[in-house]
Amino acid sequence: MEGAHLVDVDVCEDALKDAEDEEEDGQQHRLPRQPANEGEDDQEERGRCEGESEHPVGFDRRAAEDVEAGEEELHDDAEQEENRQPVEEHSRLRHAGILPPMAVVTQREFGLFIDGETVEPASGEVREISEPATGAPLAKAAMAGEADVDRAVEAARAALEGPWGKTPPNERSRLLHALADAIVANRKELTELETRNVGKAVSSVKGEVAVSAENFRWYASAIATIAGRTTPIGGSILAYTLKEPVGVAAQIVPWNYPIMMAAWKLAPALAAGCTVVLKPDPATPLTVLRVAELAAEVGIPAGVVNIVPGDGPTTGSYLVRHPGVDKVAFTGSTATGSEIMRLCAEPVKRLSLELGGKSPNLVFADANLEDAVPSSVYAIYYAAGQSCDARSRVLVERSLYDEFVNRFSETAAKMKVGDPLDAETQMGSLISQAHRDKVHGLVETGRKEGAEVVTGGEPTDGDGAFYPPTVLAGVENRMVVAQEEIFGPVVTVIPFEDEAEAVRIANDVKYGLTATVWTSDSGRGHRLARQIKSGVIGINLPNTAFPGLPFGGYKQSGFGREGSLETIEMYLETKTVFVSTGGKPVNPWGL
Ligand code: NAD
Repeated sequence: MEGAHLVDVDVCEDALKDAEDEEEDGQQHRLPRQPANEGEDDQEERGRCEGESEHPVGFDRRAAEDVEAGEEELHDDAEQEENRQPVEEHSRLRHAGILPPMAVVTQREFGLFIDGETVEPASGEVREISEPATGAPLAKAAMAGEADVDRAVEAARAALEGPWGKTPPNERSRLLHALADAIVANRKELTELETRNVGKAVSSVKGEVAVSAENFRWYASAIATIAGRTTPIGGSILAYTLKEPVGVAAQIVPWNYPIMMAAWKLAPALAAGCTVVLKPDPATPLTVLRVAELAAEVGIPAGVVNIVPGDGPTTGSYLVRHPGVDKVAFTGSTATGSEIMRLCAEPVKRLSLELGGKSPNLVFADANLEDAVPSSVYAIYYAAGQSCDARSRVLVERSLYDEFVNRFSETAAKMKVGDPLDAETQMGSLISQAHRDKVHGLVETGRKEGAEVVTGGEPTDGDGAFYPPTVLAGVENRMVVAQEEIFGPVVTVIPFEDEAEAVRIANDVKYGLTATVWTSDSGRGHRLARQIKSGVIGINLPNTAFPGLPFGGYKQSGFGREGSLETIEMYLETKTVFVSTGGKPVNPWGL
């Protein structure tokens, strides 16, 4: 498995390959870096190469040399053998200095990012961020309180009414392309930071970092589509429309795809000319803060991108309610989305919601199982099932049911689960032990409801938040495990008799984010694409998103679309202008 399941992996990998070829040709420019902290010590300064400026996370020279050599993987060949050790042992060796360190050094303290610079939180609150796969400390991160949100919104407003408001579209486009280049240039550091922070397999995170860069690139070009229109209405009237940025956008993202969800949110907002205050999840703010630093380094004016990590019910809620915020864009659970909708109701704030899912994966008896089985495994276990679009309800035609469950379970049990930094790992850890306990609690609920655990179903020993790929068979669609988002590596397999029942079960859930249909009957594929109530449908393909194509939900999976021209519209107001072109005075009542 390689790259993000939300994206077309091959194309994004090609983009990175091009960048690497450029590096080898010596063509790639190094973007100047600004110091993260004033007054870094001389020792660190002396450790840098000539021509390369300082690295805010304490760049390790051996890792830097790897980057310059254009190496594809984070590990070299000599490390591969050691990488196959159990994750705790691997981590111990790395922390003891026996294995070489990675591209990032632990224990950097990340501040908030407000008005173009890293700042201390007014609250003074700094939290320890640890690696979920090992429990080892990774970094410290400042948490924003109300005073920090005030400061960030004020900076965003000043930038909107100042430099950013005066930045023409072609310049915004150039800056977004430059940010995409900066993400590619720093991809190894971003990939490692994200992998260690979230616990996801590095092979997946590489794709997510690639697609984040591609997303900025796509919106950099899509700026060209922002335009009003003239409408001929007859008489002596010229009528046209103007597109204007909606204003200051508050954006809130979850922990499961920190850099990618931030890129999905930031790029369209900046393309439209808005300024942003973005709140990442308090557990996973690191790569988002680095992207904000890179945005400043490439010349995006101060105040355009502000990052305020903090808790949802306090900092997040305060940001949503802030009178200086014109639009709210939220990605997270349906329960939180519903609360945010309530907060936005009274002041009538513009709002878009990307929420949860319990997506169906329909397998008909005529499906090509050589594709359907491994792709169905991929579609649930990618990101350890912590994906909004995880196809967590597999619906299988009754005549195929037993064979499918056996083949699916055998394939799932063969997956490589382990150290997220091992290039061969397919599934890393969950985000935390607390989340693992929640996932396991739902598996226990399934057992009580009468589901059969065919494989997995017990937490793995050790400090890491690991949970094995789990298959629940004999599931009925009314069960809690078939209706609630488990958000872990747990699939429910449900039988159906015929096409009509398959559609009925697929739609019998409060969500409607994605769906996949496996059949060799193309007419049936297209028929079901119309009948299934979800924002994205795949026919014989597990992918669900690609820069430029709308991604979003029906029903309680939310409203609004990400990743597409529709998204830019969510950050624009449309103004209609009427102009008299007649030669006579305008006096409708003849007064
Ligand atoms: P969550 O709703 O608990 O948290 C998401 C974000 O909202 C976090 O930054 C959190 O701090 C913040 N938050 C929490 N309460 C808040 C409040 N009262 N006011 C303002 N902000 C608040 O969700 P989660 O568990 O972190 O993320 C997983 C959920 O996200 C799943 O349901 C998943 O399906 C969904 N998700 C959806 C998409 C999509 O595109 N549809 C993408 C990724 C994740």
